[in-house]
Amino acid sequence: MINFLDLQKINAQYAAELKQAAAEVIDSGWYLLGERVKQFETNLANYIGVKYAIGVGNGLDALRLILKAYIQMGVMQEGDEVIVPANTYIASILAITDNRLKPILVEPDINTYNLDISLIEQHITHRTRAIMVVHLYGQVCWSEKLESIAKKHGLKIIEDNAQAIGAEWNGVKTGALGDAAGFSFYPGKNLGALGDSGAVTTNNDQLAKVVRALGNYGSKQKYINEYQGLNSRIDEIQAAFLSIKLKHLDTENQRRREIAQYYLENITNPGIILPISDFSLFTFHFSLTHVWHLFVIRTQNRDKLQKHLTKNGIQTLIHYPIPPHKQMAYKGLNGLNFPITEKTHKQVLSLPISSVIEAEQAKYITQQVNTV
Ligand SMILES: *Cc1c(COP(=O)(O)O)cnc(C)c1O
Repeated sequence: MINFLDLQKINAQYAAELKQAAAEVIDSGWYLLGERVKQFETNLANYIGVKYAIGVGNGLDALRLILKAYIQMGVMQEGDEVIVPANTYIASILAITDNRLKPILVEPDINTYNLDISLIEQHITHRTRAIMVVHLYGQVCWSEKLESIAKKHGLKIIEDNAQAIGAEWNGVKTGALGDAAGFSFYPGKNLGALGDSGAVTTNNDQLAKVVRALGNYGSKQKYINEYQGLNSRIDEIQAAFLSIKLKHLDTENQRRREIAQYYLENITNPGIILPISDFSLFTFHFSLTHVWHLFVIRTQNRDKLQKHLTKNGIQTLIHYPIPPHKQMAYKGLNGLNFPITEKTHKQVLSLPISSVIEAEQAKYITQQVNTV
């Protein structure tokens, strides 16, 4: 069986270092908000190229805290609108509604599955305060047009960078492109902890201070509470693991690119629509705009293809089977129509891709996809 994602194998590569780090944390007697978190925050900020990285409990909290901080800062208030892609993972939307802001869903581009930037302006109202871009499947969602729309209308750009750590646009890393970004280190992400954790990055001094306080009960100084905050912090043990794994992230992402390239060149089944990105195959080797968190193909006969692959020992997943506006949790949005989003949710299938997929496995998967 080829597992969709072999986390055991990924972490086994670093087992000796991880065990050593765990032992050090256990022996230190200090488990939260210590030196290892500080060190990881510095490492992450340097890697992304921003002034501040703040460790938080998970990716959802990272996005929640950014919006909560903007509300505290008076940049937005309850009922204001945030533009967000309709086909994102539900966490992006949960972060918005949890803050009593209104998600304004916008269709993705059918080719990249990223927010269709040409549709943004028609959705802007006097209540719009921010655009949340999601670098879905590991591909950068950014353009000069996006920057100019935000500037013209005075909107913040918040990046949901849960899936694209390490990707770059014009030499700038995702997480440093917008006003603030949320990261997830869920074990299955490109930089995965061995448990939950996340981070916020920004160059804004005030935002960084407020996010840090909000994640720690709204307190900058122990027992003095400025805001009604949350408890959302990164553990010392996870921070120690993440500093180790961050050193290998570029190598792992490069391996993902090689596997993606193999699939792109060798999946020839005419019934399959391959992922395309904003660069040609020719320049593919050099393109850093995609870190291939997922390799998502599209086909009319998705369920049949998935059954065929399962029968032949290949585990695949669907990202995602039900769009947020069709979920029970969002009954108020159930009546809305997003034909592109709904079509992609019926047709997409994610093939195994990770730093530990072997050449032989990629070859076998390709053969099986080509024989349906
Ligand atoms: C994983 C993910 C999140 C949430 O991260 P958690 O750490 O699981 O809370 C948010 N947005 C997107 C696009 C994700 O893929």
